[in-house]
Amino acid sequence: MSDTIAAISTAMGEAGIGIVRMTGSQAIQIGQSVFIGKAAENENRKLMYGHIYDEDKLIDEVLISFMKGPHTYTREDMVEIYCHGGIVPVRKILELLLKSGARLAEAGEYTKRAFLNGRLDLSQAEAVIDIIKSKTDKSYEVSLDQLEGSLTNKIKEIREILLGMVAHIEVSIDFPDEDAEVQTLDELEKNALEVKEKISSLLATSDRGRILRDGLNTVILGKPNVGKSSLLNALLGQQRAIVHEIPGTTRDLLEGMLVLEGFTLRLIDTAGIHGTVDPVEKIGVERSQAAARQARLLLMVFDGSSPLGEEDERIIDLIKPDQKIIFIVNKTDLGTVDDYKRLTHRFPDIPLVYTAITRNEGLTELEETLVGLLEKGTAVEDIDPILVSERHIEIISIALESIRRAREMWGREPLEMVSLEIRNAWEKLGELTGETASEELLDHIFQEFCIGK
Ligand code: GDP
Repeated sequence: MSDTIAAISTAMGEAGIGIVRMTGSQAIQIGQSVFIGKAAENENRKLMYGHIYDEDKLIDEVLISFMKGPHTYTREDMVEIYCHGGIVPVRKILELLLKSGARLAEAGEYTKRAFLNGRLDLSQAEAVIDIIKSKTDKSYEVSLDQLEGSLTNKIKEIREILLGMVAHIEVSIDFPDEDAEVQTLDELEKNALEVKEKISSLLATSDRGRILRDGLNTVILGKPNVGKSSLLNALLGQQRAIVHEIPGTTRDLLEGMLVLEGFTLRLIDTAGIHGTVDPVEKIGVERSQAAARQARLLLMVFDGSSPLGEEDERIIDLIKPDQKIIFIVNKTDLGTVDDYKRLTHRFPDIPLVYTAITRNEGLTELEETLVGLLEKGTAVEDIDPILVSERHIEIISIALESIRRAREMWGREPLEMVSLEIRNAWEKLGELTGETASEELLDHIFQEFCIGK
């Protein structure tokens, strides 16, 4: 018998309707005790019209649905009450349910029950949070795909192969025979390679996943007055609706989210750092350096109408090998000196775009270059699920490490050791779907949810 929990499942605020949800072994009984409606019988899974009463006091006019488990979200009996929106009606109904024997649900408790009762696995439960939190169409699609089981299925496939490998090894340990052993190694090698490929191709999606989730950390660098703020404003200008202004900045935007062909960029302008925080150049440079170090993408802006100076060189020195970079030579309307052609020779791999931002020139080309750069190395087959969760990325990396170790071992170490490593990988991957997850891990994950989900 599960205890009965209740919560408001819609966002609090003025709205057309609000939904209060209840689940557990007493849910239907409690629901019936507060509802008076036209239907003589409270039919299963039908939406019924009626009123909620606290004894003889009318609380609200509602629609209600009684749903018998196991064909429900939690697999337990559920009741949903659709009442008037706004904070008072939903709260009054919730209070009544609590008074009638339900207890307040904890954050994510509905979904946790769905998981514990086998309706969802852990990665699907996590996808539910991501769906609720998603900010762009693309990240929503990825989460929906995960909810539908794309990642689960992939992990299941991999775990099955791993289990087959363990079984194979165990047999050859129990029945040692030279020929069989050679065969075992061949077979294992084939399986291990297959697993490695599958895992690696999953991991390869994580870069794109991170970008989808958080936005690519993009820093606009350049010496003062080259047009950094103008660039930020020009890029964001076309998409005002999704610009998040950072609180505390009244003058210019310092940061904003830019969505470009499904990629989210978190743009940071270091001009504000120079201008508002400290006039001392040294401190400004240090701050820019810190921002640049953390960036995945650097937009380096130069004033094309004046020669490349020492200050520009200091900024070029900030480049790290693993960063994506675009050189932007701005102010071409004032003329372009030859220095910048030489930049292309010095850094043949770094794309260079000429702009006159105040005239709106070169921006389309810049956006195309940006998208091209983002697609390079992060493109993935659409059939692959995309890894967005740090937890999943870590689990899969550890599993891959175990497979690598197992491959190094065979032929050199006893088969038992190899088997152990493969089993480790199998178990680790089980944490992703929740089959081998600890209680603490579950608590940790479900705390991320809001109450009522
Ligand atoms: P920041 O200090 O690097 O952020 O530079 P700003 O964006 O504040 O620009 C400095 C000055 O250069 C402003 O007066 C801009 O209007 C001007 N500016 C920016 N881009 C261009 C351009 O493409 N051509 C010209 N002529 N002026 C520009």
